[in-house]
Amino acid sequence: MAAERRTLVHWFRKGLRVHDNPALMQIFNKARASPDKFYVRPIFVLDPGILDWMQVGANRWRFLQQILVDLDQNLKELNSRLFVIRGKPVDIFPNLFDRWHVELLTYETDIEPYAVKRDVAVQNIAAAHGVTVDTHCSHTIYNPEVVIAKNLGRAPVTYQKFLSVVEKLKLPKVLDKPERLPKGTQPIADEFEAAEPDVYDCPTLDQLVKRPQELGINKFPGGETEALRRLEKSLSDEHWVASFEKPNTAPNSLEPSTTVLSPYLKFGCLSARLVHQRLQEILKRHPKHSKPPVSLVGQILWREFYYTVAAAESNFDRMLGNIYCLQIPWQERPDHLDAWAHGRTGYPFIDAIMRQLRQEGWIHHLARHAVACFLTRGDLWISWEDGQRVFEQLLLDQDWALNAGNWMWLSASAFFHQYFRVYSPVAFGKKTDRTGAYIRKYVPELAKYPAACIYEPWKATLADQRDFGCVLGVDYPHRIVNHDIVHKENIKRMSAAYKVNREMRTGKTEDEIDSDSSLPMTTGKRKASFETKRSNIKRKR
Ligand code: FAD
Repeated sequence: MAAERRTLVHWFRKGLRVHDNPALMQIFNKARASPDKFYVRPIFVLDPGILDWMQVGANRWRFLQQILVDLDQNLKELNSRLFVIRGKPVDIFPNLFDRWHVELLTYETDIEPYAVKRDVAVQNIAAAHGVTVDTHCSHTIYNPEVVIAKNLGRAPVTYQKFLSVVEKLKLPKVLDKPERLPKGTQPIADEFEAAEPDVYDCPTLDQLVKRPQELGINKFPGGETEALRRLEKSLSDEHWVASFEKPNTAPNSLEPSTTVLSPYLKFGCLSARLVHQRLQEILKRHPKHSKPPVSLVGQILWREFYYTVAAAESNFDRMLGNIYCLQIPWQERPDHLDAWAHGRTGYPFIDAIMRQLRQEGWIHHLARHAVACFLTRGDLWISWEDGQRVFEQLLLDQDWALNAGNWMWLSASAFFHQYFRVYSPVAFGKKTDRTGAYIRKYVPELAKYPAACIYEPWKATLADQRDFGCVLGVDYPHRIVNHDIVHKENIKRMSAAYKVNREMRTGKTEDEIDSDSSLPMTTGKRKASFETKRSNIKRKR
């Protein structure tokens, strides 16, 4: 009697792509080598519990739904398909392993603490069922574990240090998509499919999006096909790629001034390793190119940096118990948080950004700077954890490591410490959009305000406000704080919090620290040195 066919399972979690997917490739290669021995089942586990506990807004659910449909299509072109299983991984795997006679399970590793815990549980289940598990690191260019090991067991906590570590590492080989599977490797229907042929089909939009009224425009459709198209489009102008410098891009252009590859990288429907390789190829042809940290390669390496530091700290997304994060006594102001989250602070530039985020699911990096600084150390003195949660819900590209890492940076809680450099919610936006076209688009109440006061509508007289069709306090809110006053108070609060943190960490007072040359400078000293350098530069000009 012929031996019963075994099944090879690839478990898609992130890495929702067929290109450059080593774990999927392993399954395909094994099946192609012995097509009469194996069935292939690429799966995606849709855990209904996640619909409840994860902060995922309607736009991101739609993005995921589109990704799954596209992935299924791309697998079909390879003579396979996507099997979507509903349930908790720890509940469904024991049954799947038996029902499908699974021999091998592969997946891409993930550093997020909930995923690490889940994966350990699934590995134990696999071991108990005699299933081999093989994992591959392909969500990042460099394996965070390897980077940390290379840095003597500690995550490099500055970007420059990170660069110097990864410079010595070999780049991974970027894979093409696998070749088509031979006939016969497509499994026959199991008892569930026999009873209900669409049981493993992709979810529909209705099944995933519980509050369709929250859907904004579908400006960035999900999926590997769209991701690769977007990559090609972004790279088509080689001069733009080679001269890219992040600070010179605009936070408030009406169309994105950067690539918007982030949602695709977040879900892994685009390989960061492929993006990096393609960028390197272009830069070879343009020797006078921009460099990290501001270049496009530099941006991809910021992603790598945050993944590495996050991999070493399971409390990365919170202030307490987080090795990197300073403890700052933020205040609770639900009314201000709500005004910020819904674009009703009375600061048109801030409100425009938050409304763009809610509608479209993506905002420019410097726009994120402006609103994150405003919420935390700049104006509202509200915890970065609250801001992170709002971003978690609204961003298409929400990413555990990147969201937390950047929030800590912007709130000067970790990685960046020049808290005395505060973004003005008025002047910053004017630099790249003097007429306020961006505000007019996202805060249409103010559309008739002239450029002279669109960033500061409180400067218009009541008569003018009436003429412009938008009276403050009636049609658009009064500003909830006065930036000119509060940002100065907040700098003092930050200075005090830094002092306490420094004393707690070193067990010494500020004066003792300043007189000890073996210790890093106190913030007071660093600020003085910053001011001296700045006035020297001004004097030279
Ligand atoms: P590009 O400038 O075209 O850069 C290309 C890629 O490089 C991006 O797609 C992204 O993967 C990576 N990258 C760029 N900047 C950064 C950065 N500062 N840190 C890490 N990676 C970077 N990015 C996310 O992907 N997910 C998040 O949840 C997220 N939350 C953020 C929260 C705050 C408060 C801030 C200030 C930034 C956050 N970022 C986050 C980083 C950054 O703003 C976005 O990655 C970037 O704006 C995405 O647009 P883009 O693809 O056009 O970027």
